[in-house]
Amino acid sequence: MFRVVAIKEIQAKSVLRKRKKIDSWFVSCYGMNLYRGCTHNCVYCDGRAEGYYVEGEFGTDVEVKVNALEILARELDPKRKRLPFKSSYVMVGGGVGDSYQPAEKTYELTRKTLELLYEKKFPVHVLTKSTLVERDIDLLKTINEQNRAIVSFSFSSTNNDISAIFEPGVPSPTERLQTIQRLRKEGIACGMFLLPVIPFVTDVPSVLQETIKDAHDVGIDFIIFGGMTLKEGRQQHYFLNTLQQHYPELLVDYTHIYKGDAWGNAIDSYYQSINKTFYTVVRQYHIPVRIPPRLYVDVLDENDRVVVMLEHLDYLLKLRGQSSPYSYAAYAISQLTTPVSERVGRLQELKGVGEATERIIKEILETGTSSYYEQLLNA
Ligand code: SF4
Repeated sequence: MFRVVAIKEIQAKSVLRKRKKIDSWFVSCYGMNLYRGCTHNCVYCDGRAEGYYVEGEFGTDVEVKVNALEILARELDPKRKRLPFKSSYVMVGGGVGDSYQPAEKTYELTRKTLELLYEKKFPVHVLTKSTLVERDIDLLKTINEQNRAIVSFSFSSTNNDISAIFEPGVPSPTERLQTIQRLRKEGIACGMFLLPVIPFVTDVPSVLQETIKDAHDVGIDFIIFGGMTLKEGRQQHYFLNTLQQHYPELLVDYTHIYKGDAWGNAIDSYYQSINKTFYTVVRQYHIPVRIPPRLYVDVLDENDRVVVMLEHLDYLLKLRGQSSPYSYAAYAISQLTTPVSERVGRLQELKGVGEATERIIKEILETGTSSYYEQLLNA
């Protein structure tokens, strides 16, 4: 279907978003959106949901923050900061508009942002669905050599036919996999965000098997997996219309798992079941299911390193169907304003820290990592 793209140039008041605590999915404390709206037009995109306030017709209308560089340069100026910047990856992408969507060919906001982040010596984590990122391989390579760069690609599967239905404006999975190969050849770490998988379409064992094998074959460094949310309103309406056209027999199944949760979540038992399937397949390939420590131990300060490792441990145990105490401890440490090493001897005073957690924290502080965590991550 022919779609007329409408670009609107806007003046942003701010660009850099600081998170309240480190995000252990991306190993990042900072993020940004250079574009609002996205002509990749993925059918499941939650940027379409009313709660994100993206103006206009999602999929055709895009707002471009034309003054983003000027604002970012100010926001990244250490002289204007009361507190020093936290050492972490700066996330470029995600949110309500892909940083390498077609408008980037004209505006080059992402490229200029990478140049600025290089100049300011920040490690960079890019998340995209576009092969246009190859245009910036030279720059990403330089950033990686200076301070580390990760490029992650989101996929709902590596099946080209399914992608053509649900990701009509995105380069095919085959092309994305080729880009991963090129980036890895240049020494740049690449991740797959297998997110969202589409219920009963790309979450089924045969499609997951094919996708994870393809990721393994191009040498992916990690895979992060997650299910789909479907918020009532524009997002749900748009998605179910497409589903009706291509998979009408699945409509009833959707009513069994999406039951009007305010955040668009499916029922817990559905997520538990797809996590189980994912884990069964991914463990055959020994691919880390979180960003591995070799990509972040030299980037983070000690508190954030402990927080990320405890949150990863929490996920790894839950993925195996076990309970975990680690997220409480991670949260308590994320709220500290002094180095956690100064608390050694009194760690159990922190909420959620028992004897076992204390041992793990001490090992991370002494060696930079935890053998238990590494063992689970690489299993
Ligand atoms: S690429 Fe990302 S932001 Fe763009 S439409 Fe797809 S899911 Fe949404």
